[in-house]
Amino acid sequence: MDAQKVLTANAIKKPELLAPAGSFEAVCAAVYSGCNAVYLGGKGFNARANASNFELDEMKRAADLCRLFKVKLYITMNTILYDRELRAALRYASELAEKISPDAFIIQDIGFASMLHKNLPDMPLHASTQMRLHSADASDLLKEIGITRIVLAREMNLSDIKKAAASGVETEVFVHGALCVSQSGGCLMSSMIGKRSGNRGECAQPCRLPYKSANRFPLSLKDLCLAGSVTKLMDSGVTSLKIEGRMKSPDYVAGVVSVYRRLIDKKRDATKEEMLYLDRLFSRQGFTDGYLFSKPGRNMFGYRTETDKITSKESSKKLDYYPLLKSRPEFCNQPPSPTVYTINEPQDKVIDYIKPLNYDVFRFYGDIPKDIKFPEPAAYIDIPLWKINKIPHDYAKGNIKIRVIMPAVCTDSDKAVVVKLLSNAKDEGISDLVITNLSQLNLCDGMGFSLHGDIALNAVNELTLDFYKDKLSTIALSPEVGIGALKSMKKPLPVELVVYGKLPLMYTENCIIESAENKNCDRNRTNCKFMLTDRTGAVFPIFREYAHRNVIFNSVPLYLLDKKKELKQCGISGKIYLFTDEKSDKIKSVIKMGEQSSTAVKPFTRGYFQ
Ligand SMILES: [Zn+2]
Repeated sequence: MDAQKVLTANAIKKPELLAPAGSFEAVCAAVYSGCNAVYLGGKGFNARANASNFELDEMKRAADLCRLFKVKLYITMNTILYDRELRAALRYASELAEKISPDAFIIQDIGFASMLHKNLPDMPLHASTQMRLHSADASDLLKEIGITRIVLAREMNLSDIKKAAASGVETEVFVHGALCVSQSGGCLMSSMIGKRSGNRGECAQPCRLPYKSANRFPLSLKDLCLAGSVTKLMDSGVTSLKIEGRMKSPDYVAGVVSVYRRLIDKKRDATKEEMLYLDRLFSRQGFTDGYLFSKPGRNMFGYRTETDKITSKESSKKLDYYPLLKSRPEFCNQPPSPTVYTINEPQDKVIDYIKPLNYDVFRFYGDIPKDIKFPEPAAYIDIPLWKINKIPHDYAKGNIKIRVIMPAVCTDSDKAVVVKLLSNAKDEGISDLVITNLSQLNLCDGMGFSLHGDIALNAVNELTLDFYKDKLSTIALSPEVGIGALKSMKKPLPVELVVYGKLPLMYTENCIIESAENKNCDRNRTNCKFMLTDRTGAVFPIFREYAHRNVIFNSVPLYLLDKKKELKQCGISGKIYLFTDEKSDKIKSVIKMGEQSSTAVKPFTRGYFQ
């Protein structure tokens, strides 16, 4: 094809319109309304444990219908998986590959992806938004484990989306539906408060509840709607436009799909009437497109009011649900035959394991008191990269090294500043760096740091550890690993575990301090702090993170300092003490309690370690 023809072909290439389905009726609604692809979950291993989800027979019907209309079908298996579940998950995926022939699986867990790729080598895998990818930096690494598409994090702006789309990997962008206030895959709130893990599809949505602050719903975001920016997204080069809502009704799916179908076909943005139509279907005090245009802020927040509910109820009677039913554009009588995938026999991966080391890590998210004596065998003092100028100078001595923690997010827009901070750290003689995201492996590669993995990597199984073993010097396990799993897991590299501290529950793009106080905060202040009180009286410290993002910490510390024996049996190498809003005296007493393995003093939590 000559250049002109390529240009023309690109110009008319439409992105895929990808619709959610929580039931067979929703699949029909999506297909009849003109989507190009549907995603749904089976009965296990997917991030919407509360949706009704599909039995195999029903999924087969859905797949047949999709094929008839040349609609692609993606199956979600997008949760973290424990070692004890991996084999069953693989069997299930193989059965689906054989009987359903989906066009891809959507995956969160790195270990599971690498296992799946060995057994189903030609099955395309999509990296779920739960992987928290804010750039295409990791795409080469991900390709090695079969990942052909990245579902981009919802917090990305248009210019970062364009860059990712231009990288060559397929990209998928959410255009409509509910937003998580925390970066998806970076939320432990529901898990740590009520043992319902967002990373396991069990989120209880504490972010939608009222809190005791000026704004009663400081964690509830309005729904996303990018119908007003469809032309910009079409020009960005993204592969797929995705609608959220596997828990929503078929009517909702039909309504939203039909609007976006029309917009994509005519390459135009939504009219006022169309926006109103979408709003009536479902919204939380209206919609937001704040992330796309780098305008986070208080007007992104909203909750589902009684008025919203009444409007949706009234308007649903008047909606024309299936406008495209009569003019199925790509209907064919001879559906394409299903893809036949190679299915290899499952083989247990041989994982070497190392003799555990024994050291302590003292991590400071808050102030670092000047008069702390760190006991042996302390190895690292961890501080956020952007607070590097706040370390008392005489802290790094003997065997103790300073390690800096990467920001929880580093988008392409953030890179220049982050790289500058990294080079400052190098100049200060710092040689150890904790990465908080898979994408950062690429960014930090070649800068000469010894790389360590943070709990934010969500490592909960030995295959994930095996994936990271040549890439990292140490890795902190997710606090969502229970003691049984901890014990039996092979550890091919030194693993760390948080043994004390208020765990980071949410990383937010928005400033929650602004949202809670209902007033704009000073963008130049770097040390904002806020205490958010929930309806039970629990108080959650919120700190400002790099680039005016926030971290919300748990109200009570995890306490395992009296579990030395068990931790040793579990093969833990590094014990992390994580300090947030503790004052100097408290920090000293916690360190002492650790040395003496003292019994816990209330309030505290054991997390998953029981
Ligand atoms: Zn702020």
